[in-house]
Amino acid sequence: MPGSFRIGRIAGIDIFIHVSWLIIIVLLTWSLATGWFAVLYHGWGTATYWIVSLIAALLLFLAVLVHELAHSLVARARGLTVKNITLYIFGGVSNIEQEPQTPGVEFQMAFAGPLTSLLIGGIAYLLLLALGKNTSPLAAILGYLAVMNVLLGVFNLIPGFPLDGGRVLRSIVWRVSGSLRTGTRVTTIVGQVFAYLLILLGIWFFFGGNLLDGIWLGFIGWFLLTAAQSANSQSMLQSMFKGVTVGEVMNSSPMTVPANISLQKLVDEYFLPRGLRSAMVTQLDQLAGLITLADIRSIPREQWGEVPVGHAMIPVDRLHVVSPQQSLNDVLPLMAGRDVNQLPVVQDGRLVGVLSRDAILHYLEVRRDLGIHRRAG
Ligand SMILES: [Zn+2]
Repeated sequence: MPGSFRIGRIAGIDIFIHVSWLIIIVLLTWSLATGWFAVLYHGWGTATYWIVSLIAALLLFLAVLVHELAHSLVARARGLTVKNITLYIFGGVSNIEQEPQTPGVEFQMAFAGPLTSLLIGGIAYLLLLALGKNTSPLAAILGYLAVMNVLLGVFNLIPGFPLDGGRVLRSIVWRVSGSLRTGTRVTTIVGQVFAYLLILLGIWFFFGGNLLDGIWLGFIGWFLLTAAQSANSQSMLQSMFKGVTVGEVMNSSPMTVPANISLQKLVDEYFLPRGLRSAMVTQLDQLAGLITLADIRSIPREQWGEVPVGHAMIPVDRLHVVSPQQSLNDVLPLMAGRDVNQLPVVQDGRLVGVLSRDAILHYLEVRRDLGIHRRAG
């Protein structure tokens, strides 16, 4: 996700924070110091309200992180690749590159998050009980964590895709109907109904005089609505590409340029005459890298005559490479997630093709024109 920075690594998973998270931490601390704690607890000093609020806000996001870790660790234990976890304004996202292959795995992965939140809430509540009747800052923080984690667990169990509860429901419909597509369609509809209800509730609050809560609810509803819609179209694409390999869709005679020519020659003989924006670079018959307009521009123009393509290109070890046998569905998230327009397709180090967004669109258009919507079998 652009605008994110890495804060560390837990169990081999990179943890990122999105800039929006910093805004929400400030807003949350402010609303806790002037609202929640100020209303529920009296007689603390001003500094105490703010420090307690900041600690409570940070602990809440730590709990969100543990929720995401639960999803990610279950996913990894079931053989899926977890790239990273990003904390942002609405909480956290686990960036898991493939979709689960069976309803059982989907169920476990989805349920692990809310279950963890409910457990954290329960533990905080038990600790609070152990403290006895108490209005200390520690009790205040425990009380807040208990309430918020239970709310978080319950909210995420709302059965609308893409919330965790929607995934749980999807896995059940998938198991019963035998079709992932049916499961997704049912749960995205439920998700959209919930989203509209939240938006309506937001409007109701707004005109009832509760402006901030109204805007906030409407915002969450709108977010859920767009997420449900994009999840639905993504799943439609996935069912169209089921069983299709990279080799069937790729452009198998891509434009290549040798690594040892100068940038000037590259521009004059390849890029300008053909209107290219990028090209794969080869050395002997092996893929060496990728050269783009941006790489050329990063070298001062007066040096173009001497600098070889091989020095300015992105070397192959920094490129994401796929093989022709890989399924298109496994590769698509790579292109979407990294904002990559083309992936080199390599067999035994040799470039055998390029998978581009254009090639995928072309493949879809040809099939649409032929009236083929689904692969036989
Ligand atoms: Zn979750």
